[in-house]
Amino acid sequence: MNRTQLGPAQQPMAPPFSDLMKSKQNPVEKRSSLISTNLMRVLVVEDEAGVCEFLQQALEESGCEVVVCSNGPDGLHELVRQPFDVALLDIMLPGMDGLAVLKTARLQGVQTPVMLLTARNETGDKVAGLDLGADDYLAKPFRIEELVARVRALARRSRNHVLTAADLSMDTLRRTVDRSGRALYLSPTEFSVLQLLLERQGQPVSKRDILAYVWRDDATRDPNTVEVYINYLRNKLEAGGATRLIHTQRGAGYVLSSQEPDES
Ligand code: CA
Repeated sequence: MNRTQLGPAQQPMAPPFSDLMKSKQNPVEKRSSLISTNLMRVLVVEDEAGVCEFLQQALEESGCEVVVCSNGPDGLHELVRQPFDVALLDIMLPGMDGLAVLKTARLQGVQTPVMLLTARNETGDKVAGLDLGADDYLAKPFRIEELVARVRALARRSRNHVLTAADLSMDTLRRTVDRSGRALYLSPTEFSVLQLLLERQGQPVSKRDILAYVWRDDATRDPNTVEVYINYLRNKLEAGGATRLIHTQRGAGYVLSSQEPDES
């Protein structure tokens, strides 16, 4: 899967956004924001290699974790497969255009806030995009500071930043977790594992999906690593005799549920 690299057909070339690149001299925020508790996950679907690279760098410098796709089908796949705080969708994309990606993702229940990137004067596309469930749009060329500010605003507005199950609550923007009002202190890895289980609560999540989401596509990673983190999480979640929320479903993976799943 094309994640942080650009595809082979997308060799960097002189980007047509020379004015954009100038503002790059002045990064929006310092890298130190990475250690803040506000790491946002952003999906960028954009086929122009120069623009893509520029967006990725600027977003990472402002404290976001960025996944990049250079065509519509890959973008849709990622949007459906994993949770993001915000997705940036270019409209003109190879394989499937941004509007079709948006429409299909919404039909599949994806709630991720989406910002469309449109070429100047594509007013029709903007209107269509908003009708299809886009949350915002920005016309190219844009100022990177404006893009980052809008991404942050969208993430804040996102209705899904508080995930709950029974007496467990996770705020994905503040990066906090509590159970019955008692704060739990999770490592970043534990937090990511729990976030994925909460996003898909009630459904089994396979070890492979957890590996792909938390450790990216690190094929060298032993699936048993997942078990280790599930145990860490259970210890923290069940401290003081609280009921089990993360259940093992044999052959299927783990299910986060307030009820014991049927085990056959
Ligand atoms: Ca394009």
